[in-house]
Amino acid sequence: MDPRTVRNLIDGQWVESVTGRARERRDPGDDRQVVSVHPESDAKDADAAVSAVLAGWSQWADTAPEKRGRALEKAADVLESQRDTLVEELVREEGKTRAEATMEVSRTPLNLRFYAGEALRTAGQTLPTGDGSLVFTSRSPVGVVAAITPWNFPLNIPSRKLGPALAAGNGVVFKPSEVTPLLGQRLVDALLEGGVPAGALAVLHGGAEVSQALVADDRVGAITFTGSTAVGESIHRVVRASQRTQLEMGGKNPVVVLEDADLDRAATLIAKGAFGLSGQACTGTSRVLVHDAVHDALLERVAAKAAALRLGHGLESGVDVGPQATARQKESVLGHVRRALDDGARLVVGGPGDPGEDDPALAHGHFVRPTVFADVDPGSALATEEVFGPVLAFLRVGSFDEAIELAGATRYGLSAAIVTADVGRALRFAREVPAGLVKINQTTTGQAMNAPFGGLKDSSTQTSKEQAGEAMMAFYTVDKTVYLSA
Ligand code: NAD
Repeated sequence: MDPRTVRNLIDGQWVESVTGRARERRDPGDDRQVVSVHPESDAKDADAAVSAVLAGWSQWADTAPEKRGRALEKAADVLESQRDTLVEELVREEGKTRAEATMEVSRTPLNLRFYAGEALRTAGQTLPTGDGSLVFTSRSPVGVVAAITPWNFPLNIPSRKLGPALAAGNGVVFKPSEVTPLLGQRLVDALLEGGVPAGALAVLHGGAEVSQALVADDRVGAITFTGSTAVGESIHRVVRASQRTQLEMGGKNPVVVLEDADLDRAATLIAKGAFGLSGQACTGTSRVLVHDAVHDALLERVAAKAAALRLGHGLESGVDVGPQATARQKESVLGHVRRALDDGARLVVGGPGDPGEDDPALAHGHFVRPTVFADVDPGSALATEEVFGPVLAFLRVGSFDEAIELAGATRYGLSAAIVTADVGRALRFAREVPAGLVKINQTTTGQAMNAPFGGLKDSSTQTSKEQAGEAMMAFYTVDKTVYLSA
């Protein structure tokens, strides 16, 4: 079989979908190249996958925690040994630059190692009673976990879900993004090679159809989802009260720049947060709320950085910004750009033109120019809606209070940053801004791999932060309280 052809994993067998349908995924930097082919699964496939994991997960649950941890460690070793190939596949399938892909490929095994440790640490409590009897809590796996993931970090995000779910002894039905099936497959291959039994893991490839069926299956005990707020909310509407759900969703992340800020530093942080990963990070910078006194000087610096960025295929050297992941994504981003122009925003750099018309090297990819708008109306779509592309909105503020108010003036609450030399105002910002991640003199993007990660407001169900050790393991385990007298 062509190594680029991925299949569903059901009951330990690699199978096509019952639909018989398959879909090609092409390189977003050069859409003449097919990168992978995956089955387009439907509800029947979902039913078979859940049945298989339901029958197989208890053996994994009964495996000693150190063995479960060891399997995750070995999977991490496998991923590390495949680093160069994975970097290249990630660039070709998702569209990152080589440097961005290297970062993701390097971090994914660390996530698995982090949760390998949690397998050993996850424990209940014993409570005093005073009469010699015991009250204790015992923790066990939830059962079948559905993990539904986006394309923008196709290794890293699934590793933060499959890692803890498997460490706790659950069975997992994994539905990778249909945009990045090959990378999803690579993670599963490593887990199986590491020693996770096929009974504890199923993989379903495809899009909304199979995903919706998975979510609606009563036998799924927990759903962990990362993706857009619209899809997350659609999942929230159909789950049962007893089905635990972790929904990590979109963002509209601001950087506040006060009049005392080091403007060169601010411009560097803003450009990195806005245009890194081609603007396709949930924590990407999409709004700059800058004090009137330094507005023009900062705008000039950020615009110069945006204009200097080199677009191109991520495998080429010297490329700063890769393509958008799909043609649809490109159209959606350009739609936001056109609407901003209609709404009266001032285009400073970039814009809706197709870079492929000027540069034949970009003619076959989904490229969007890094774009900066100024004089953006705070009530407009560009100031309030997630773009998920390399598009930045500058809004002028007259005071710190106004900046805090505007920072919170969207439905989202994922990441927010402030650039200032004033520790007092930075701390007030951290206290008052409604965001799950607050960065002071740092980019809105990027997180420590062992720090709690998740949003507030419509960015998350706030069920339990990812990567938070004990709190995360609580999501993947159920507690019983046991009363024992001799
Ligand atoms: P998406 O919501 O379109 O898809 C996410 C996953 O859900 C995919 O696997 C997809 O197949 C599946 N899906 C699609 N329609 C569905 C439906 N109706 N029911 C159930 N599942 C369905 O998101 P995307 O385009 O893959 O990713 C981009 C989005 O993800 C952005 O909004 C971004 O902010 C968000 N994101 C959030 C975080 C975070 O941690 N908060 C991290 C990365 C990305």
